[in-house]
Amino acid sequence: ADAKARQQDFAFFNTSMMSAMEYRQLLFERFRKALREEQFELYYQPVFALDERKVVGAEALCRWYDDEFGWISPLDFIAIAETRGLMQSLGDWVLKEACRQLVAWNTAGHPLPGRLAVNISNKQLESNDVVERFQAITANVAKENLLLELTETAMMRAPELNSKRIRQLHDVGFHWAIDDFGTGYSSLSYLSQLKASVLKIDRSFVSKIGNNPQDESIIQAIIAMAKALQINLIAEGIETDAQLEYLTKHGCNDGQGYLLGRPVPASEFAQLWLT
Ligand code: C2E
Ligand code: MG
Ligand code: MG
Ligand code: MG
Repeated sequence: ADAKARQQDFAFFNTSMMSAMEYRQLLFERFRKALREEQFELYYQPVFALDERKVVGAEALCRWYDDEFGWISPLDFIAIAETRGLMQSLGDWVLKEACRQLVAWNTAGHPLPGRLAVNISNKQLESNDVVERFQAITANVAKENLLLELTETAMMRAPELNSKRIRQLHDVGFHWAIDDFGTGYSSLSYLSQLKASVLKIDRSFVSKIGNNPQDESIIQAIIAMAKALQINLIAEGIETDAQLEYLTKHGCNDGQGYLLGRPVPASEFAQLWLT
């Protein structure tokens, strides 16, 4: 009887019977409940030094499994959080959980080498007390072990405020990466003023290595620029040996991607990558 009842629930939640608006509203309500009940989980993807193939960090990626809808992409639920005013709560939870995990790995005797990257939404940078909040949330970990990521696109939504916030957070010791670099519209002068220690080359460029000479030129230009500005580089979305070889040969230090290691739950990450 239980199974049958559940099947009926499922039929009720069949999204094809809903309008897009009903779906969004329902998803929002489930999201709000998930946030209240802390039903999110962080997965961790290793970041490698490309020449030595050794782990030099990780990126925390938020995951949400809903009993009715199944896995929801972070792109979707981050958008919900951002448009419904819940991004600060979700973002605080993510940062808190990432720090808790860093401490847990330390305590277990297999600390993460390098930095744990945490994605930040520009919505989190809007509030005036963000520096105090981030300081309080990360009080248990060394800032050397953290890397805050903001996408170039998010950055350019409010370039003045965001660069001010990045500077304020940088001044108290936080390190920054510009995520999905190459897809936004920042300028060289803007970049050189930003207090970013890392640029992450967007996956869309990496995926065209080997079949699009123009994108390869862009990658080489980004590598040259990062060297000139003394900013470290991480290539995203490395999926093939050819891409790995190309990036290593052209002097991109670090990278991540399915070829090297997928995002996995914390326990699996420790088993695979921490010793
Ligand atoms: P991102 O920060 O650029 O993260 C990299 C995305 O690429 C992740 O997708 C990761 O799973 C995926 N990826 C890694 N290696 C490969 C590869 O070799 N091939 C391909 N095709 N994909 C690869 P994911 O986890 O679905 O996250 C998507 C985006 O959602 C993230 O992009 C980030 O912008 C956002 N996001 C995820 N978690 C959080 C979070 O906790 N807070 C915020 N604000 N945003 C988050
Ligand atoms: Mg990222
Ligand atoms: Mg990215
Ligand atoms: Mg992205």
